[in-house]
Amino acid sequence: MKKPVIGISTNELYDNDERFAGSQRVYVNKDYLTCIEKAGGTGVLLPPFKEEIEEQLDLLDGVLLAGGSDVDPLLYGKEAKAYCGYVRPEIDRYDQALILSAAERDIPILGICRGMQMINVSFGGTLLQDINTEKDNAIEHMQKRDRQYPSHWITVEPGSLLAQAFDRRSLVNSFHHQAVDEMADGFLITAMSDDGIIEAMEKEEGSVYGVQFHPEMMGALGHDESLKLFREFVNLCRK
Ligand code: MN
Repeated sequence: MKKPVIGISTNELYDNDERFAGSQRVYVNKDYLTCIEKAGGTGVLLPPFKEEIEEQLDLLDGVLLAGGSDVDPLLYGKEAKAYCGYVRPEIDRYDQALILSAAERDIPILGICRGMQMINVSFGGTLLQDINTEKDNAIEHMQKRDRQYPSHWITVEPGSLLAQAFDRRSLVNSFHHQAVDEMADGFLITAMSDDGIIEAMEKEEGSVYGVQFHPEMMGALGHDESLKLFREFVNLCRK
């Protein structure tokens, strides 16, 4: 049986070697590739070129939106506050076009961390630009422990795509300072932290969903529920 091919959105960084000043690298963290491989799929990197999205989607059975920089607030009708982080406007516009085109074609989409935030913004939602500044009594969502260790609880909505892999009360890791604020129309909250941050969402129609935590980091190091989430996603992409 052919393995489903999952396209992963990429990040950019600049080369530190002065001889290559200004030269960019395109990359994904290996944990995503590891989990897709363990789940029975094949991961491929997507160059962030908006003009070739349709050709990219012709090759893919699924799309995974990876974590990364903050999302440009201009995309959701706001201006950046001083506490918003570094944004990459071109990557944001590529990711948004990718999400909307993939959804239009009914190709399953899983968004992780920034990827979930991009799904929300792409369909008309907004973000908190910094949880601690904009929300009282938040817990620590930028954990100070290694990536495989969970740091806070979530409550998972029964019957959701996330509930196929995670128990109703689950512990997850947390590496975000932004979060979903107003959720896009047509989506459901499928997990929340105890301080009221949206930790997972899914579209009512189709297979479009996201998580705010990092199952790829826990899964790459053997966490069962996280690996199950990737297996369920790869299975969705088989159809
Ligand atoms: Mn969190």
